[in-house]
Amino acid sequence: MKGLAGKTALITGASSGIGQAIVWRLAQEGCNVVINYRSKPEDAKQTESIALSKASEAGHTIKTLLVQGDVSKEEDILRIVNSSIESFGSFDILVNNAGIQSDFPSHELPTEKFDQVIAVNLRGAFLCARESLKQFIAQQRSGVILNVSSVHEIIPRPNYLSYSVSKGGMGNLTKTLALEYANRGIRVNAIAPGATVTPINESWTTDPEQRAVVESHIPMARPGFSEEMAAAAAFLVSEEAAYITGQTLFIDGGLTLYADFRETWSA
Ligand code: NAD
Repeated sequence: MKGLAGKTALITGASSGIGQAIVWRLAQEGCNVVINYRSKPEDAKQTESIALSKASEAGHTIKTLLVQGDVSKEEDILRIVNSSIESFGSFDILVNNAGIQSDFPSHELPTEKFDQVIAVNLRGAFLCARESLKQFIAQQRSGVILNVSSVHEIIPRPNYLSYSVSKGGMGNLTKTLALEYANRGIRVNAIAPGATVTPINESWTTDPEQRAVVESHIPMARPGFSEEMAAAAAFLVSEEAAYITGQTLFIDGGLTLYADFRETWSA
């Protein structure tokens, strides 16, 4: 994809699922990758070694960096961004991927659980964006931010209030930053995955009955895969998308098309 080879991308929560697939796809396109992980160095190392092989198979020589850090902690974010700049001199692409969810009826949702989800999914994304924007402005080169949102940016999800609120907020984070920095050559977009086969969804992906229930709500009757999310992510951060900013691209097999209206149920 145009304009990715030789760039440097920082991806948060990159040792599994969608983040890992984005690392691999960007490596394949010739990007240097900074792989942030929270708690599993062995998974991060494996992600790195597969990234190096994918790049080399595609004829690219890339550099990689592993950085442990918790995006709910401001001091960790400063360290993650500073390590990227120290190692690569600059960086061009931020992918705010780290995310968690929490399942409680809203009237029983503990305050600390609400705060935790917002701290990782929304405040973490804001802080990573803020620190990256400072760097993009200082290096006087265009930069790109990609937020990994969710279909729950627009679909309310009962029992997942904090998650829905965080992704709804991410939609506005994307648009506001896009507007604020458009005239400095900085683009900000989001991808919004639908139900995707990753560790966050083990409860239904590994249970055939539950998986069938999920699939019954998806017009394309199947879940998405991380590589499909990574392909859209690579496009949006590449120069192929040079005129796209402030958009959330839904990648959901039609989930946001109101599947219940497949057959008309009113006159
Ligand atoms: P995942 O659990 O494999 O990935 C989440 C990653 O974030 C993990 O590697 C985890 O270690 C990391 N992480 C969590 N808290 C962190 C913290 N405090 N600091 C740094 N890293 C942290 O699941 P996934 O499905 O790949 O999720 C990736 C993103 O995609 C999330 O933002 C999620 O909300 C979003 N998403 C996923 C789906 C889906 O169906 N899988 C759908 C919509 C959106």
